Amino acid sequence: MSTRKRFATIWLGGCTGCHMSFLDMDEKLLELPALADIVYSPLMDVKTFPREVDICLVEGAVNTESDLRMLRSVRESSVSLVSFGDCAVAGNITAMRNTGGKKAALQSGFGSMGEALAVGDDNPLPQLLAQASPLHQYVAVDYFLPGCPPSAELIWYVINELLHDRQPVLDREKLRYG
Ligand code: SF4
Repeated sequence: MSTRKRFATIWLGGCTGCHMSFLDMDEKLLELPALADIVYSPLMDVKTFPREVDICLVEGAVNTESDLRMLRSVRESSVSLVSFGDCAVAGNITAMRNTGGKKAALQSGFGSMGEALAVGDDNPLPQLLAQASPLHQYVAVDYFLPGCPPSAELIWYVINELLHDRQPVLDREKLRYG
């Protein structure tokens, strides 16, 4: 049986900026496949989140019902779940819509059509939860990787430590929010 680690990333309610920072790891992106099998990511063409994942980075807050279903499925399938970026860690930009409520968020995005689009069985929009929330409001999180976005160096540090069965130490020097 293979002892290679199985690595994944997903995004929920965020801006994709954390994944852009992941891409900024540059040459480390070439080291990653040497250390692990990348089994799922929005950066690749795989439709279904697999089972038996060792490490999963989750970008974004839990904003919609489909986010929540995905997060629960990822939690069930992953040994180590990393809250990846400030939206996942604390809600951040995505949670700004909480102050005005669901109706105001829909109107802001879709004008007067917003609320009508979000109801009914055949509506084309993902169903918003009452609030956008950080991941740990719904599932156990093993590691918190803050930053908006986290730097490429910090992302690689956390991934590399986990792939080598070491605990990443996110001390004051490394922890920066916003
Ligand atoms: S933490 Fe910042 S960069 Fe990452 S998804 Fe949220 S807003 Fe975008």
